[in-house]
Amino acid sequence: MTSCLFCRIAAGTLPARIVHEDDRSVAFADINPKAPVHVLVIPRDHVATLNEPADEALLGHLIAVAVRVARDAGVDGSGYRLVVNTNGDAGQSVFHVHVHVLGGRPFGWPPG
Ligand code: AMP
Ligand code: ZN
Repeated sequence: MTSCLFCRIAAGTLPARIVHEDDRSVAFADINPKAPVHVLVIPRDHVATLNEPADEALLGHLIAVAVRVARDAGVDGSGYRLVVNTNGDAGQSVFHVHVHVLGGRPFGWPPG
């Protein structure tokens, strides 16, 4: 989908600071970071939200990549948060599934 920002990043036609890529996923720095570590992990294939039927193995792969990103960023021991915002109440703004990897500072609970 050329109209989708994250499809364009996955295709390499929109620049991003990529920290990991493989045949099924891409991970890149969030352009407006909310924490010292803020990386987005996306599937290469366009999936708008978690509500779409998706390959469960692919969803598991995205989590595995997110854990690797956290470890590579050195926040696996201090702690990190994975977030997947879905639709309006959760504040989803880009409709291509992405796992936020947030770390490098303490986070409150419950989230705002
Ligand atoms: P969400 O609100 O969960 O849909 O998150 C979308 C995230 O994408 C936000 O944290 C934005 O800062 C981030 N974002 C939007 N455009 C870009 C971009 N071109 N490159 C990297 N991150 C982006
Ligand atoms: Zn897309």
